[in-house]
Amino acid sequence: MEFDQLWQSVLGEMEVQISRANFATWLKNSKLVDNRGGIFLIALPNNFAKEWVENKYHKNILGVVRNFDPSVKKLEFVVDGQMTNGSRRPAIKEITRLENRIGLEFRVDPDTNLNPKYSLASFVVGPSNELAFAAAEAIAHEVGTKYNPFFIYGGVGLGKTHLLQAIGNEIRVAHHEKIRPRYVSSEKFTSDIVWAIRNKRMEDIKKKYRDVDVLIIDDIQFIGGKEKTEEEFFHTFNALYENNKQIIISSDRPPQSIPTLEERLRSRFEGGLIVDVGYPEYEMRVAIIKKKLQETNQTLTDSVVDIVAKRVKKNVRELEGILNKLLFYQEKKGAPIPERVASEIVDSSVQSLARHVTDAQVLRVVAEFFNVQPEELVGRSRKKEVVEPRQVAMFLLRDILNTSYPSIGEKFGRDHTTAIHSYEKINREINKNSSLNQKLIMIKDLISKG
Ligand code: ADP
Ligand code: MG
Repeated sequence: MEFDQLWQSVLGEMEVQISRANFATWLKNSKLVDNRGGIFLIALPNNFAKEWVENKYHKNILGVVRNFDPSVKKLEFVVDGQMTNGSRRPAIKEITRLENRIGLEFRVDPDTNLNPKYSLASFVVGPSNELAFAAAEAIAHEVGTKYNPFFIYGGVGLGKTHLLQAIGNEIRVAHHEKIRPRYVSSEKFTSDIVWAIRNKRMEDIKKKYRDVDVLIIDDIQFIGGKEKTEEEFFHTFNALYENNKQIIISSDRPPQSIPTLEERLRSRFEGGLIVDVGYPEYEMRVAIIKKKLQETNQTLTDSVVDIVAKRVKKNVRELEGILNKLLFYQEKKGAPIPERVASEIVDSSVQSLARHVTDAQVLRVVAEFFNVQPEELVGRSRKKEVVEPRQVAMFLLRDILNTSYPSIGEKFGRDHTTAIHSYEKINREINKNSSLNQKLIMIKDLISKG
């Protein structure tokens, strides 16, 4: 077999073995560069990924590789700096195809950041989201005047981004491109501000975000505590609001529960319409599954649909991930997936995803990520290799779980001022230090995916 072809098969196996998030974060951009004398040489785009894959997935990959080629003795990992901007390889094509089994790939419009795959028509409506949906429809047709700002909140994977994007797309169509929406994640908004400050280009950024008719900002909870970003957002908000421009915001929690959000921003948000999206109930989950199957022209038996809908309850993204796995299996075997196999796949996926995040989980992931012992994390050592992970762990306990400073302090055998100091230090750092920021994004991703 050719390298690419072989590696493509290995990745296909790995995708089924590890979580989607881990796969996308660590393995998607790997490639097989050499295979000599029983040694597989695997390239990864940066040192970070190399170390991680080497430490975490070495055995896993070796097992899979040996299924394809039993003569392989060992794996070696290298960094290939050119990979990130390198050409597309056949291996990636296959993976992309797998990932898009559900949810066809469309191009994101660079002016609006809208992806046409999200539409109001493809959004399944039920008791858990009908209010949000009705408001979205109303806003798309009466931009800026009806409900302003519009604030939508709810848990992960419950359709907030879908709805935000769909409003933007609907506006373009309904108003024949005369009303200009712009979608932005709050991470992107933040990094734009940081860039503008560093490069003295604030005017450009002001123009970019104030010269629109509809500003859609996703996951606003991430700007909480980032002073400069909040400041700029506040002014942007006012400038738009005073001109009857529509502002649409999402968050994983209601405004009053974003602990670090400035009071004046919070009260602005509370002046508009606030709605939530909740967990879909059984009938809705069935409807969502059927819609996804129909959109991609694929089928599962009714009993398999029932198995999935009964067990995957709290996250539509997770539901899609599991559907992908089932369809992947079906495609490989070329026959309808048996109930028993479907049950097993669903069970193994749900177990790892449905857990709620706990303190222990945060500490474990942070320790693993930085390759330190969990005891060191809460211990007294002042070694540099331990101090940063410890501060990150404290930061995340506060950031993700909203743990009080005194109880964070207690967990680490320190007082609450240390916890506050750590939180603030990391919070400041992530605005300045993109590699730390990147690490935190990855760690959060790993935590959220169990
Ligand atoms: P959130 O932003 O709330 O974390 P997303 O909007 O990204 O969640 O939704 C996750 C995935 O689930 C997306 O692919 C989205 O299209 C899909 N999804 C969520 N809710 C629905 C729904 N009601 N109908 C159809 N698809 C949905
Ligand atoms: Mg989202």
